[in-house]
Parts: sequence; C-alpha cells; structure tokens
Amino acid sequence: MRNKIVAGNWKMNTTPVEGVALVSEVLDAVKDMELNHKKVVFGVPAVSITSVASIIGDIANVHVASQNISSYDSGAYTGEISATMLEASGATMAIIGHSERREYFGESNQVLATKVDKALGRRITPIYCCGEVLEERKNNTFQTVIKTQVEEGLFHLSMEEMAKVVIAYEPVWAIGTGETASPEQAQEVHAFIRSLVSAKYGNEVADNLSILYGGSMKPSNASELISMVDIDGGLVGGASLNASDFVEIIKAM
Ligand code: PEP
Repeated sequence: MRNKIVAGNWKMNTTPVEGVALVSEVLDAVKDMELNHKKVVFGVPAVSITSVASIIGDIANVHVASQNISSYDSGAYTGEISATMLEASGATMAIIGHSERREYFGESNQVLATKVDKALGRRITPIYCCGEVLEERKNNTFQTVIKTQVEEGLFHLSMEEMAKVVIAYEPVWAIGTGETASPEQAQEVHAFIRSLVSAKYGNEVADNLSILYGGSMKPSNASELISMVDIDGGLVGGASLNASDFVEIIKAM
C-alpha cells in the first residue's frame, strides 16, 4: 500500500522562530490523527531545519524536508548545502527540481539527476518535481515535457533507488496562481507518470510510488484532488503557511 503524503513548501518565508511556531500549531492540531501510511512533511528554509526537526523529535510519519540540495559533496561551493549537512541537521526528505529552481536557478534535468543521487546517497527521500508551463499545456506537448523530466531526472536509478522516490506533479501554470488543475486533468497526468514508471521499473514499484499534486491546493479542493486514484497527496505552497489551512489539507488525505 502506497503512502499518502501532504508536504508543505514554505519557499523563502518564515524565520526559524516563526517556523517553530507554525509547526507546533500544526502538530498540536493533528496529534490525535492516525498517520498509518500517511506522512506530513514540512519543506522549510534550510536555516529552520534544525529547529523544526527538534520540535518534531521522533513523532512517526512527520518529516522535515529541505527545498534544495547541492549536487556537490563538499568543498569550495560557496552558499551550497550538501546532503550530508542536511541529513545531519535533521532533514529526511528534500524537494528537488521545483519549477522555481528550474526557472530562476537554471536547474536542468541533468543537474537534478545528480541532486537525486546525492539525496539517496544519504537517508534523504527525494520529492522530485515535474510539470509543464501554460504554453505546453495549451499546445498539448505537456506529456512529452513531463516524460522527459521524469526520464532524465530519475530513470538512471536502480529499482531499489526508484522505490524510495516520491514524485510531485506541479503544473507550473497552477503554482501560486490560484488556478488549480481539475481533478481529471491532474489524474490524467498522474496515471501517465505511473505508467512511465511501470514500463521502466515494473508494476510493483509503480503501484507503491507516491505521486503528489501541487498547484494551488487548498482546503476547498484538497479532498476532491486526493480522492483521485493516482493522486497520493499534495505538495502545498501558499496554504502550508497558514496552520489551519494546512491542517485541513492534512485531514483531507
Ligand atoms: C508549490 O510551491 O509547490 C506550490 C504548489 O505552491 P502553491 O500551492 O502556492 O500553488
């Protein structure tokens, strides 16, 4: 049975003190929830990983994720943060290949493939993001775009490695815009991604793969999206910065 996951992506918001307050409020509200086969993830700024990890402590199925990871191990790479450092700070997951990193920081599928390797080289689960821009949706090339992102970023992995990966489908036109893919549009792409993984790695890996939807997920649309057969949760930006909205989304999974 594959895991359902609701992961917040705070982006470049919150100080460590604000982050601890936000996580405490969320955890307090979900403390009685049964999290069997369900995970709650906080994708926080790197400077908050240690303090958020210490608030979470050993609560099962609650994780801290970084929002990036270096493709280098160590050395003269000013400003970079390695997988070893992230793991030592308490991160157990990493968002890799978010469209903002692809667009503003020029991260190619090839660089992202290396980042995925670095995460898996430590005990960090990659949440690998893919998704098309509006023009690619409109001109109907979105499946080709997503196929290339998934193949070039992930398909060098062994079957054992692929079994540890989480994928997030995030149509770029729906991120931070208030516009959401319809459950049917999202389901179509999730099923497509699962079929790609199945063709390469077999049914078992594909069936156990959690594929999250991201793009203006909010309390009002979360249950409908997550109820689709191939949508296993959400990667949530804006709504994850509001404790009660994020809690409602967690409760929808
Ligand atoms: C995101 O940043 O991954 C995201 C999906 O943002 P939002 O929920 O704000 O669209």
